Amino acid sequence: MGVPVDDDVLEIGGRRFRRGERGHVDLLVGSLVSHAELELRVDVIRGRKPGPVLFVTAGVHGDELNGVEIARRLVKQQFRGLKGDLLIVPVVNMAAFLLRSRYLPDRRDLNRLFPGNSDGSFGARVARTLMDEVVSKATHGIDLHTAATGRINLPQTRMADRVEGSREMAKAFGAPVMLKAGNREGTLRAACEKLGMPYVLFEAGEAFRLDLPAVTFGFRGVMRVMRSLGMLRRSKKDLEHPSAYCVGSHWRRATAGGLFRALVPLGKAVQEGQILGVVADPFGEGETEVVSDREGIIVGRTTASLVDEGDALFHIAQSKASPEKAEERIIQSAEDVIPEVDRAPYRDPHSDV
Ligand SMILES: [Zn+2]
Repeated sequence: MGVPVDDDVLEIGGRRFRRGERGHVDLLVGSLVSHAELELRVDVIRGRKPGPVLFVTAGVHGDELNGVEIARRLVKQQFRGLKGDLLIVPVVNMAAFLLRSRYLPDRRDLNRLFPGNSDGSFGARVARTLMDEVVSKATHGIDLHTAATGRINLPQTRMADRVEGSREMAKAFGAPVMLKAGNREGTLRAACEKLGMPYVLFEAGEAFRLDLPAVTFGFRGVMRVMRSLGMLRRSKKDLEHPSAYCVGSHWRRATAGGLFRALVPLGKAVQEGQILGVVADPFGEGETEVVSDREGIIVGRTTASLVDEGDALFHIAQSKASPEKAEERIIQSAEDVIPEVDRAPYRDPHSDV
């Protein structure tokens, strides 16, 4: 991790950016099967005054589009009075994006290949390029994701407490839920943690689909983090509607296979013993209720209507406050993002309720 060596010049991919300058660099990663060159585009926005260097990445998984839209909106933003620098990579995994796939052409997950290797697989080279040219030049990072195919997530930040500053970033982001979560080897998050870099991951919505409330939460969250880091002028409004802080989570799985109907929306507080959904035998032989095994908040769930026994159905997080208090916070945080919101804290297109 480092601040630019020469305080006035930030060099990315051989291009030198002076203070107050903005532009982009296409970093060459390698050639694809078609012989076409694959490039990693980095948008650079430099403030006139020094400050933190924040990277924002999206599309590490090629089918996760909400982050790409958030990054696109950031690239178009003016950022008057910016202190420090913003490095935006709207599509990290372009090879997967072209395939409309979560995974790389060799079916590997780019988010298991960090920090990468310049002599390694194609994905390892993408990871290394991002680390060398973007992450290593930053002081803070935000990575934007959605749930994997077949699942949907309530807008939420995920962070570990191990690196100082990460929790403060997640707090400033102000997503409806802030979830303390472990880390897997090979993720961009783990690579940043090893560098001691404050970092937050944002998860919202589902794969292949632009979800405007999710995009709004994400865009607003990045701007809030920038203000909290002193990159932009602070706003008292940012302290309103703190996230519901959750310290752990688990998946409630199907205890039978069949046709699945959900009975609770994302963001809902649930009690132990509460019926969350129903799995029906397709031949009308009976229905099995999906019962919550503990209290918590629904932060994610399957979008599938056909499930096998054992399939993950509801992602339930344990909040620090009571689930009802957490639900209240989620509703409040959604109010200025989704004005039409009434009872449901977050529009869940797959819910029966
Ligand atoms: Zn992802």
